[in-house]
Amino acid sequence: MKANFANFGTCKYCGKRILWIKMKSGKNMPCNPEMIGYRIPKEGKGKDTIITTDGAVISADRVYDDNADGIGYISHFATCEGKKA
Ligand SMILES: [Zn+2]
Repeated sequence: MKANFANFGTCKYCGKRILWIKMKSGKNMPCNPEMIGYRIPKEGKGKDTIITTDGAVISADRVYDDNADGIGYISHFATCEGKKA
């Protein structure tokens, strides 16, 4: 079966482009289209909620260097600016 990662949409709250990631649960999660590197801290809990490319939700820290444990996406809900109302 082919994974479908080219599932773009538009956030109905802020109008930004989002990427729908299919979760392991079968639900779709709106994420920011930008891929980010993450690192899982030793304590097991990071500052960000990251959705990995295979649809798992993890708690990790966003990193900008080569020491990332993997690549994933930030949930759009974490950064959406149109959802305050
Ligand atoms: Zn939004």
